[in-house]
Amino acid sequence: MQTTGSTAITTVGIVGAGTMGNGIAQACAVVGVKVVMVDINDAAVQKGLATVAGSLDRLIKKEKLTEADKTAALAHITGSTNYDDLKAAQLVVEAATENFDLKVKILKQLDALLAPEVLIASNTSSISITKLAAVTTRAERFIGMHFFNPVPMMALVEIIRGLQTSDATHDAVHALSTRLSKTPITVKNAPGFVVNRILVPMINEAFFVLAEGVASAEDIDAGMKLGCNQPIGPLALADMIGLDVCLAVMEVYLQEFGDSKYRACPLLKEMVAAGRLGRKTGQGVYKY
Ligand code: NAD
Repeated sequence: MQTTGSTAITTVGIVGAGTMGNGIAQACAVVGVKVVMVDINDAAVQKGLATVAGSLDRLIKKEKLTEADKTAALAHITGSTNYDDLKAAQLVVEAATENFDLKVKILKQLDALLAPEVLIASNTSSISITKLAAVTTRAERFIGMHFFNPVPMMALVEIIRGLQTSDATHDAVHALSTRLSKTPITVKNAPGFVVNRILVPMINEAFFVLAEGVASAEDIDAGMKLGCNQPIGPLALADMIGLDVCLAVMEVYLQEFGDSKYRACPLLKEMVAAGRLGRKTGQGVYKY
């Protein structure tokens, strides 16, 4: 096993038991990596643990796991509301709510609490890894670990190197990702990293094609599904992600890169202004 210098990663701490946190916990537990998962209150911790149990049950139904595998996996996860329990980990993955001030507060707390050799990763989708690293005293041992939703199903992890991330930190997190049966790709810190940088402007372009009347929404989606082998068309995908989220991401790219190629499509803005945010509001490009 790879090491963090001298210590192997046998226990992973996770901050946040939500969608991503409990998914990361499951991915670790099923391969025998111990997990300490922390959230702000017991209800959130219990909800995270119940989500893992439900997800394992679905895998048993599909005959991908046995009851014994489930029992073993659950025994690897400790839920807690006490940050002190994270001291058992060699790597702590921050997967709390996407809010810069909140993440700064959590990272400072972790930095003060954890032994200096412990690695810290953030699962942020949009915040600069270099900027987050800089609020700690361990920028060389800080890294981005961007998992995809749903974590147990999605094979990719983007490993994001901040400006000061060391090779040893990168190599330890790369090895752990492989152990979690994921395929890691190594990415330099930049807005949107790799996948969202390419994906969201493509979705935005689909809105321009729709707005110009080049083709119907159904035909745009059919074109990209059948012509590019995408499992879902870009407009249907926008409805799943949330049109407000797509718009916010484009606005970040426009601001960060200062390049007009990232300007959001006016039709996307109009739909967001109308409250047509996608599946979550019952209507986006399509009606649900
Ligand atoms: P979520 O809202 O489902 O879960 C966040 C959890 O963090 C909640 O349970 C909340 O109680 C907890 N939390 C808040 N403050 C905390 C604190 N001080 N200490 C401990 N826990 C705290 O959010 P999510 O979708 O799991 O997103 C988590 C992170 O993962 C975000 O940074 C997000 O950008 C990123 N991400 C999300 C997705 C996705 O599709 N949902 C994909 C990739 C990355």
